[in-house]
Amino acid sequence: MTQEEEVLIVPANWNLPFRHTAGRFASRFFRELRDNQRIYGVRCPQCRRVLLPPRPFCERCFAAIDEWVEVGSQGILEAFTICYVPFLGLPQPPVAMIMVKLDGADTSLQHILGGVDLSDPAKAKELVQIGMRVEAVWRDERRGEIGDIQHFRPVAG
Ligand SMILES: [Zn+2]
Repeated sequence: MTQEEEVLIVPANWNLPFRHTAGRFASRFFRELRDNQRIYGVRCPQCRRVLLPPRPFCERCFAAIDEWVEVGSQGILEAFTICYVPFLGLPQPPVAMIMVKLDGADTSLQHILGGVDLSDPAKAKELVQIGMRVEAVWRDERRGEIGDIQHFRPVAG
């Protein structure tokens, strides 16, 4: 092919629903959410960090992990972005995507923030602050997935 040849763009809209195994670590993590409303991370045997979500090895040390550690259902909001456009798999906008470091964990969990009126971007900027404490709000009917935590909300008081 030369640079002079035209390369065509083919418009497409793929919708490919599928099911896949969650794997051993995510399955245990999701079962604890579903059955016990508990959040578990794993501890690296070398650097001793508690990693969340759980994973079979530490990406820093490449050490295999088999120690499970319960972490708190509250933590610190470490980062966020507020989406004002629809996004596949998320609630209707506006929605705040957050990174929360739960008490006892050394890494952050990605989730969404609820219980805050995000309709006015200027006000939302004041209501959502890095460093604020948040807590998990559990779904009544849990299914063994990350959505069993419906969202995190600011801790009152
Ligand atoms: Zn490590």
